[in-house]
Amino acid sequence: MKLLLMSTSVGPLGSGLGGGVELTLLNIAIGLQKRDIKIDIVAPSGSKLNSIPIVQIPGELQTPAQTQERNIPIIMAGNSVLVNMWEYARKVQAEYDLILNFAYDWLPFYLTPFFHTSIAHLVSMGSLSETMDRIIGQIAAQFPGTIGVHTAIQAATFPFASQCKCLGSGLDLSLYEFCPQPENQLAWLGRISPEKGLEDAVAAAQITGIPLKIMGKIQDENYWQKICTNYPQAPVKYLGFLTTTQLQQELGKCKALLMTPRWVEAFGNVAIEALACGVPVISYRRGGPVSIIRDGETGFLVEPDSVDGLVNAIAHLDRIDRRSCRQQTEVEYSLEALGWRFENWFKSILAKS
Ligand code: UDP
Repeated sequence: MKLLLMSTSVGPLGSGLGGGVELTLLNIAIGLQKRDIKIDIVAPSGSKLNSIPIVQIPGELQTPAQTQERNIPIIMAGNSVLVNMWEYARKVQAEYDLILNFAYDWLPFYLTPFFHTSIAHLVSMGSLSETMDRIIGQIAAQFPGTIGVHTAIQAATFPFASQCKCLGSGLDLSLYEFCPQPENQLAWLGRISPEKGLEDAVAAAQITGIPLKIMGKIQDENYWQKICTNYPQAPVKYLGFLTTTQLQQELGKCKALLMTPRWVEAFGNVAIEALACGVPVISYRRGGPVSIIRDGETGFLVEPDSVDGLVNAIAHLDRIDRRSCRQQTEVEYSLEALGWRFENWFKSILAKS
């Protein structure tokens, strides 16, 4: 089997602008290669992905859907990288058995019926826009089985939930070292952007007095500055956007990862990265983390938007055995299992086409 992987068009791979999609794409690529599936990756210029070669496509980046209103029409730049990437895919499609789309954007769905090669779409967001719901729903009906999602909770945000194939996520667990004994500090990871609710984690750090390490791409500078202004005394330290190796080193030393999403996370890669290091996850009971965290065993699920809930959970962290966190990832989130699920998904699509 030979696949063409079409990356997100909101940022080059390795920039952090694509959020969890960047790591997901890398892990799927490695998982498939381990199964002797040949892959090529197409991504915006400037992309880097370990040692895997990438077809680099120039053009203007797309605006992330989560920063836009629900009813906004689709906007395409004159020299859109998304258009250029799919123009490339159109030309080379005959060389591939299947194309896998990672972009949460209208164009790849709209183009699907015009391609001769089958296209599978991995949807990495919950419902964010009327136009996207409509076009994905149309493709789900016309090409059954081609819409993949990460969790059932994410799928439930769409009118076509029952037509989605749930694929979870996975990690190269050998890259994450188990740390049995944490220091007195907490972690928060991810894109620094309003839908991630970082201010609540900062507030929890201020109340408990436990230092909070913040790691991730600052996507919204104004939002970050506002948090710094509103919580001048909070014991927080911003470490920057780290590589996976650096990230797991810092993360492993923490008592817990705080997840404070205001939106329905499709999955939440950072949750399984923390668990892989033996770090319990305290998250709002909302979106993807609900299907990951075993409440009371590998972390705590607390009332959404409740800083008191976070603080209360932090006080009970000694109830969690860090070994069960690591064990959960070994059972549920290995790269081998991820590669197997995706290969089966592709086979089922090819069998129908
Ligand atoms: N991440 C990273 N370096 C950092 C902080 C975060 O590489 O310093 C990555 C992390 O590994 C994860 C992604 O950023 O893959 C965040 O993904 P998640 O699924 O949690 O949320 P999203 O950004 O997709 O909403």
